[in-house]
Amino acid sequence: MKDEFVLSKTNLPYWLRQLRKKADLIGPLRSLNGDIIFSSIVNIHEMILDCPASIPSPKEFLFPQKEEMYKFSQKGVNTLNDNGKRIIFGVRSCDISAIALLDRFYGGLLEDDFYMSRRRNTCFISIACNNPDPTCFCSGLGTGPALKTGFDLQFTDLGDRYLVQAGSREGLRMINGFMHLFLLPEKADRDDQYEVLLSSQSIFEKRITLENVRQKILAGKVPDSFWESVASRCFECGGCVYECPLCTCFNVIDWKEKDNKGTRMRLWDTCMFKGFTKMAGNVLPAGKKIMRTKRWYFHKLLYYPEQFGRFGCVGCGRCTITCPGRIDIATIANKLD
Ligand code: SF4
Ligand code: SF4
Repeated sequence: MKDEFVLSKTNLPYWLRQLRKKADLIGPLRSLNGDIIFSSIVNIHEMILDCPASIPSPKEFLFPQKEEMYKFSQKGVNTLNDNGKRIIFGVRSCDISAIALLDRFYGGLLEDDFYMSRRRNTCFISIACNNPDPTCFCSGLGTGPALKTGFDLQFTDLGDRYLVQAGSREGLRMINGFMHLFLLPEKADRDDQYEVLLSSQSIFEKRITLENVRQKILAGKVPDSFWESVASRCFECGGCVYECPLCTCFNVIDWKEKDNKGTRMRLWDTCMFKGFTKMAGNVLPAGKKIMRTKRWYFHKLLYYPEQFGRFGCVGCGRCTITCPGRIDIATIANKLD
């Protein structure tokens, strides 16, 4: 079975329009305030494919910021599973790597039905990054600029055409009905991809691996005075958590309506807030800012590797863009390296 193809750029809009007949096509667009956001595509030519990181990350299509889970009334409970089919086009490699970890988190022993029903109905088409942002550091973590697995299809921009690699059956299915649009790659296409990715590697401004930092923390070489100084710069805005494609904290609330009806909702939460996991009797498990700051960093640098064998960071650079206190993971890693 062939799993590599070439698609001319002139054929891309037609192919995407055909896919859109079977699923909601989502891609990167420029919002009115200039940010890149992922949204349903009406006009394919409006997609911005060589763009900076989207804010927020595409994780919101699997784990929305605000999600209705159940409707309840005196008659009973209705589960609100979202089974809409989606194809998300133009996702960055770092975000695909993040979704692979989210799958393990939400699809583990205690499977999360809400996340997994969306996940089973969503295909991801990634584009290898030819122009990494100055804030990106995926190359040191093996989470970009291109991947070997994790995507349904991976595109590499070769100028007038894309090299298209299938990573799953769903990926192949998206191509199979349209073989008249695709060619099989020749040596020149693979050589061009190699060169494009080599050139991309040379653009990265940040070279961070996180392993040195992990070792220093494990060896007890990072004193609390360091974390105190980091915590003192935190505004507790939660931006780092909300924008991180790997953060999974949520809260569940019951929203009461008239006539004894209501909705159970799940909302993004952040471990940077003082009230996170607050217990009866006003007990705050991480009442001091230093405890919350350490928890975020230790979770990403120590606990994720322990549980999943990977850092809880894919080097997307969003916390660098977002943090008003300039205590994002890349800055802290550079200080400790
Ligand atoms: S973005 Fe920066 S200031 Fe805001 S909560 Fe995170 S660490 Fe604190
Ligand atoms: S910690 Fe920062 S750089 Fe790492 S994945 Fe999260 S937002 Fe991106």
